[in-house]
Amino acid sequence: MQLLIVEDNVSDAELTVRQLQAEGIECTWTRVATEDAFRDALLSTPDVIISDCTLPYFDGISAFSIAVAETPEIPFVFVSGTLGDERAREALKHGAAGYIAKGNRKHLAQTIRSALERGPSPHRRASDRSLLHAGAEAGTGAAQHLLARRRVLDDTLQQRESPAMTSIMLRAAPSPAALLVIEAQLTRDRFAKLLPLANLEIDTARGADEALERLADRVHALMFTDNIALIRGARELPSGEATHIVFVSAGGESLQAEAIRAGANDCVPSDTCGEHFWTHVTSARRIADFAASLQLALRYNGVLSTIDELTSAGRRHYFEEQFPREVERAARLGRPLAILMADIDRFKRINDRHGHQIGDQVLKEFCRRISGGLRIGRDWIARFGGDEFAVVLPDTSASEACAVAGRLCESIRSEAFDSREISITASFGVCALDHVSGSNLAERMVSAADAALYESKRRGRNRVTAGCITDTEERFSSV
Ligand code: GH3
Ligand code: MG
Repeated sequence: MQLLIVEDNVSDAELTVRQLQAEGIECTWTRVATEDAFRDALLSTPDVIISDCTLPYFDGISAFSIAVAETPEIPFVFVSGTLGDERAREALKHGAAGYIAKGNRKHLAQTIRSALERGPSPHRRASDRSLLHAGAEAGTGAAQHLLARRRVLDDTLQQRESPAMTSIMLRAAPSPAALLVIEAQLTRDRFAKLLPLANLEIDTARGADEALERLADRVHALMFTDNIALIRGARELPSGEATHIVFVSAGGESLQAEAIRAGANDCVPSDTCGEHFWTHVTSARRIADFAASLQLALRYNGVLSTIDELTSAGRRHYFEEQFPREVERAARLGRPLAILMADIDRFKRINDRHGHQIGDQVLKEFCRRISGGLRIGRDWIARFGGDEFAVVLPDTSASEACAVAGRLCESIRSEAFDSREISITASFGVCALDHVSGSNLAERMVSAADAALYESKRRGRNRVTAGCITDTEERFSSV
């Protein structure tokens, strides 16, 4: 039987498997702790899903909702220390095959056997996602805050087609892995076979040079090696500083001492087996898990501090970092570059008339419409503040930029927003350079586009004005 276990704690997953094996259930298992990994693992159609309820970056109720939607035929059993009775009843009502408290695993095998005999629950409906929301509402205090952040993040990440998101996601950090560099072939084969059983993702390098390249390329949480020179080399790399290095030793204590002096964190004799072997691997794996959580947290934080939560546009800080790079790139490659500043007309009135919440919806929709008129992965938007946005159009000439701004202006004006039929207009300022050269250009382009936007407002709003960079005077032309 193939089990899919949703669990952040490896020892808990192992306990579950051992209990089932003790009850005569032969099984192979995969453990996942994030939504992406869970969705991937569902593709291999496990026989049973066993899930914890609370994980750092995922939760059992969300997993259940996904399973209901994607694979309603696979029995789903909660094995949890935290799922309260009420939520357990709720999950069972929606078709979960069972709920077992972690201290009570002896009933698990019977629950699974009965679920497999019974077949899929008639209560399961592919469209039923209400539990997910029930789960998200149920937290309190810090948990609720985290759930709320997670929902914001999920919503944000789902909008991958948004130009700002695409360019940001391309910079997402890779997940950590264990690098295996053992020159003695028998030992290498043995480790390559055993480490995946501990749910470690293994990346094998043939020699020290290749290993150093891999370490420089990607953060590796762990490295197992029998090469002391490689340990020294790894410690000199900025990306190898944080790697937990396990020296696999075929020699005596003096060799192990040398490895520790070279920078190894732990030594394991190459012929170690049984409990001794697993003790070393378990501690290495804990470190890998910790590194994975840390990296995920950093990535989430990176995304959250880059993207405006309401509109999914980049934040101003992101703009200030990225726009000078766009200018530099355009100058280096001899390509044109354009920036548009866009601001909703009389937006304050929308808030005053319909309330702040509807105002927020209008801002979101505004940004979505603008995004819809841009080239995916090339153009991008940042929220400058309030109802003002900057739109960056790389490789775009002045005449093309004016045409884009005209189209965007029309798309805002032509169709009402929201179910309340709110009509809005927006004003645009354009600054485009067909030849990018000169000093302080990023700043000057923003000022020129901003001045052109102000001119659009002054001339009656709902229009596009093109500005240009001059040292002495401001010149504008209506578009
Ligand atoms: P103008 O045509 O001159 O741009 O007029 P305006 O009313 O759009 O300009 P003003 O700058 O006076 O008002 C912008 C308003 O945007 C004021 C502020 O309350 C509102 N605002 C800023 N941020 C948000 C937000 O996140 N949500 C909502 N609902 N309103 C916001
Ligand atoms: Mg405004």
